[in-house]
Amino acid sequence: MPADEGGAFLKWKAMELPRNVVVGHDALGEVGNVCASLKLGQRGLVVEDGITRKIAGERAAEVLGEAGVEAEHHVIQEASLEEVERVGEAVKDHALDFVLGVGGGRPIDVAKYASFRARIPFVSVPTAASHDGLVSSQASLLGPEGKASFAARAPIAVVMDTEVIAHSPHRLLAAGCGDIIANSTAVLDWELAHRLRNEDYSSYAASLSEMTAEMMIQNAHDMKPGLEETAWFVCKALVSSGVAMSIAGSSRPASGSEHLFSHALDRIAKEPGLHGEQCAVGAIMMMYLHGGDWEEIRQALREVGAPTTAAGMGVSREEVIESLVHAHELKPDRYTILGDRGLTVEAAERLAATTQVV
Ligand SMILES: [Zn+2]
Repeated sequence: MPADEGGAFLKWKAMELPRNVVVGHDALGEVGNVCASLKLGQRGLVVEDGITRKIAGERAAEVLGEAGVEAEHHVIQEASLEEVERVGEAVKDHALDFVLGVGGGRPIDVAKYASFRARIPFVSVPTAASHDGLVSSQASLLGPEGKASFAARAPIAVVMDTEVIAHSPHRLLAAGCGDIIANSTAVLDWELAHRLRNEDYSSYAASLSEMTAEMMIQNAHDMKPGLEETAWFVCKALVSSGVAMSIAGSSRPASGSEHLFSHALDRIAKEPGLHGEQCAVGAIMMMYLHGGDWEEIRQALREVGAPTTAAGMGVSREEVIESLVHAHELKPDRYTILGDRGLTVEAAERLAATTQVV
């Protein structure tokens, strides 16, 4: 037995996993059955935005109705704490039993955190596969101090309709592939933190996360727009990544220095790119710092159609450099290759230039 798994005998540890994951063609048609079989209750709230309501929200409510569940709609404007409050009020006013998040990211984040605060179950129904937050316990929301990550609970069920996801803009799916590929550097950072800081580490969680990234890199050339097979592959990878986080009990297996870079860009850039895109470009640079095969990562990103440069993400050279310099400050307790003091401006410039990000 690897020494690092032995900790489980010394202290208890909760691994919160979804009870039901349905992936496939017309999975949306199963929403009612999934909620009924889990006995989630008679009254649900569908949290969506204007677009995802048309794409999947209406259908989800209809299917719930057929299963004898009364469904209310709540259309959000943004993924913010204020919106979470509004959903919380709706849950209280209508005595609702569970929340369904229907969307690419924002409705999922709002539904996840609002249901956590209301202590009722949350079902994740992604309409795009753009990042692994769709199956995780973390919610990314706009608060008084900008965008921040909030600890919530993992969804009790995930319903991924590959037809809906295959028809979402390919940019979103490519970003999802990028978020998976970024696991490569997250795992290296975790190993480093384990060796240098004696941080809790799980070989199972790390291996699962690493294998998921490796499979995505090996199959990158097959990730084609509009194909349900592609959507299927990405969905399974996102679920595996989420399971790795559940086993670890933290986002460690899927979030290291490349995510710190993305969080920094979110704060610094005037118009940040997509989460998965930024993490992926971060992974190219962090893999260089780790002394690994950064060109393999870049090649895989090109194949899936994700950006590999600042211009591709829609941010400036200066914003990338500043984010590299400040990335280590964002989560001081998350030890990574960036260390306690981060990169100097000169080192950041050289890193971005050598990896041809700028
Ligand atoms: Zn991510």
